Amino acid sequence: MAYCVNCGCEIKESDKFCPNCGAPVNKKEQGQSVYVSENWQQENNSMSKKLNGRGTAILVLGILSLALNFFGSIRIASIVLGIVGIALYSGYRKQAQEIPGSVRAGFIMSIVGVSLCAALIVLSFFGLLASITFFSLLGEAMAS
Ligand SMILES: [Zn+2]
Repeated sequence: MAYCVNCGCEIKESDKFCPNCGAPVNKKEQGQSVYVSENWQQENNSMSKKLNGRGTAILVLGILSLALNFFGSIRIASIVLGIVGIALYSGYRKQAQEIPGSVRAGFIMSIVGVSLCAALIVLSFFGLLASITFFSLLGEAMAS
């Protein structure tokens, strides 16, 4: 049985690519060893750099999404930024083998930021509705 050098997953003799991680498989003529080409490792490096950048973006978006809730006039931006962060995270999770704590934290902050913002908007809507109702009742009471 052969094993993938990249992820350690078992590979069939007939496989050209690892079924688990997709690394190309170069077999020795008689041997059982499996080699990962240098190209793949370079690709893997640039992939992880890309993922690092995206991870940082998820963290920053999460922080902004949470923090903007405290700035009334631009609060709506926290929904937008939070949703972008959540979308980035779902792509990140498919590509990354491990998800660092900071990226997870960014994702959670995005969810909290979006929910908080939505809750504040709903609350202020009901607050407006309540005050309209109050003043119309007050008007009626004064008129009678
Ligand atoms: Zn593999």
